Amino acid sequence: MIILTIDTDWAPEHATRAVLEKVRALGVKCTVFFSTPSPAAYWPELEPGCHPDLSRRQPGHVPPAESRLPAPSREHDLAVEKAEEAMLMACKAANPLAGAVRTHRFYWHSDLSRLMLRAGFAHDSSMILPYHPGLQAFKVGKLTRWPVWASDHLHLARRLPFDRLEMPNWSAPGLKIFCFHVAYLYLNVHSLADFNMIQKGLADEEPPPDKGLPGVWNLFEMLANEILKSSKGFFLSEL
Ligand SMILES: [Zn+2]
Repeated sequence: MIILTIDTDWAPEHATRAVLEKVRALGVKCTVFFSTPSPAAYWPELEPGCHPDLSRRQPGHVPPAESRLPAPSREHDLAVEKAEEAMLMACKAANPLAGAVRTHRFYWHSDLSRLMLRAGFAHDSSMILPYHPGLQAFKVGKLTRWPVWASDHLHLARRLPFDRLEMPNWSAPGLKIFCFHVAYLYLNVHSLADFNMIQKGLADEEPPPDKGLPGVWNLFEMLANEILKSSKGFFLSEL
């Protein structure tokens, strides 16, 4: 089963809006993990999620390189958890309908499930198991965890094709959750070298001209069409 998800990350508002409009036009269900309030209104085929960057909870704090793992301190753990919970709550307040969360860079530790539930999330997708066959969701307490199967970044890094659906274990059964990013979709990036050259184009209000080379948007569209052969698709919360 193919599931489409998008992380907005640091993309500017106009790029996020433009990508959302294109996704809406496809009519396929998609979960969008917002790192800021959504710049566009929600529609029925969009499931809003939150995308906090919990790794930034202590800006400026760099432990000395020679320091060993310190003895466990409940005080330290509580301070970290308090900061993380505040960030999760702020993200939820910015997108109150979000029932799912994915942390930036798949940041995770074993106490997060409790904090996510407390912040009002029932679903988490902060994990990637690239191209593993037979993936399924699993429960951690009351939180359902959804492992990502593939990402646009990984697709670019492995130089997989963008004109056909060709990925490791593509025909094996299991959950295939795709993680896309607004920046790659907006610019329809076809290689990481191309992205380095054109990423300044993100600031432009007009999407970049079509280069005639298939890229990340074309992969998204192919996956959407594959889903639409049988249904409108699924949200994480519906599975
Ligand atoms: Zn991210």
